[in-house]
Amino acid sequence: MCGIIGVYSKDTVPVSKKLFYGLNSLQHRGQESAGITVSDGEQIKRHRAMGLVMDVFKSEEDLSSLQGNLGIGHVRYSTSGGVSELNIQPLIGFVKDESIAISHNGNLVNYHVLRSRLEEEGMMFQTKIDTEVILYLIARYYSGDIVSAIQRTMDRIEGAYSVILQLKDRIVAFRDPYGFRPLVLGQDGEDYIVSSENAAVEIIGGSMLRNVAPGEIVVIDEGGVHSYFYEKKAPRKNCVFEYVYFARNDANLDDVNAYNFRRRCGEILWEEKPLDVDLVIPVPDSGIPSAIGFAQASGIPFGEGLVKNRYMGRTFIKPTQKERDMAVKLKLNPLVEVVEGKRIVLLDDSIVRGTTSKNLIQRLRDAGAKEVHMRITSPPVKYSCYYGIDTPNRNNLIAAHHSVEEMEEIIGADSLAFISLEGLAKAGKKDLDQFCTACFSGDYPVDPTLI
Ligand code: AMP
Repeated sequence: MCGIIGVYSKDTVPVSKKLFYGLNSLQHRGQESAGITVSDGEQIKRHRAMGLVMDVFKSEEDLSSLQGNLGIGHVRYSTSGGVSELNIQPLIGFVKDESIAISHNGNLVNYHVLRSRLEEEGMMFQTKIDTEVILYLIARYYSGDIVSAIQRTMDRIEGAYSVILQLKDRIVAFRDPYGFRPLVLGQDGEDYIVSSENAAVEIIGGSMLRNVAPGEIVVIDEGGVHSYFYEKKAPRKNCVFEYVYFARNDANLDDVNAYNFRRRCGEILWEEKPLDVDLVIPVPDSGIPSAIGFAQASGIPFGEGLVKNRYMGRTFIKPTQKERDMAVKLKLNPLVEVVEGKRIVLLDDSIVRGTTSKNLIQRLRDAGAKEVHMRITSPPVKYSCYYGIDTPNRNNLIAAHHSVEEMEEIIGADSLAFISLEGLAKAGKKDLDQFCTACFSGDYPVDPTLI
């Protein structure tokens, strides 16, 4: 997963501050590294480093040195390619007297095949990420017509990609024909913004115009916004995990609001698996809207039974089980005063390895909870994601090898229930086939064996 942004200003206003603020609002999409490139029509400048946006752009100087009226930014959450300074985006390539910078969110499933072929042809790569293959192909097909170069590139790349390019005098954004990963277009006066989520547009003072459509190529230049399409169509497959977990609550992506989706998931879980308890407790933050929905639908009071340490990073990607357990402890602590003597239902968005739920249930019991039931606002994650969500290898997915009853036993819950796939579609107010649900169903819209 990653967050991407591009800003084009018709005036010669430097855009680096807007990119910086926008990237801050996309920080949840990637905490490993951050970077910005800008162009003033002549020169391209870049600043990028490992770390959070605030740490990468520490001084006024880091931003003021980026003079340009158009630019792009990126926050990275490593999936393919691993953790390395070499992989920090935006990447820059030089072709036919022009520079092209690229920010990419998603995962190509045929990356290794493409890369091997290009290497056999003599191409040398500087990173370990699929983004460089996209940049290389665009450069290869570019001879002044960027739209045609992108269309030819789209003929060869398979999988999930939302991409923003910065050319000398233009920003160009495109989205794969399935629309796996989000991409929105916004406006602030005469400035245009493209971004993974609308929060980035709103925070810098603009408003969202629309989603970039699956298969659409948007060129933003002096003449405004121009739209083109990749001719080969594909069924819409928006990643449902964006709404389950990944996007911010204020995200309005492809006509689904993440907060309402999550709240409705709570209501639907209550309808699908009602139970008799004293208190509904969320696993903060992603479980909050669904716990509110569950509490409102059931009439059972909502309580904050877990205190979150807001300064802890992601617990999910720690390499060893011991570290992951410790990280959950550091991140969430039970509130004895709220849970003692109570029968509680705990709402979380997903169970992946089972670390979080097992740890929290035990500690809630230690804090005096009489019963701890678990309700999950996604179906069991049984399959790895090849389109950009950081799910571990299938061997580590608890639901890939255990039934719900077995998982209930392993995590130590009094009862465990997951929302159904149909329930998810109902929460999104769309047909199920409009979403990619591969991590739950194993129904992969693009063949992942191309890997
Ligand atoms: P686990 O502890 O392995 O069962 O993971 C489930 C917990 O991790 C839940 O509390 C989720 O909110 C969170 N989570 C799920 N998917 C991801 C992801 N791709 N990246 C980071 N955290 C995640």
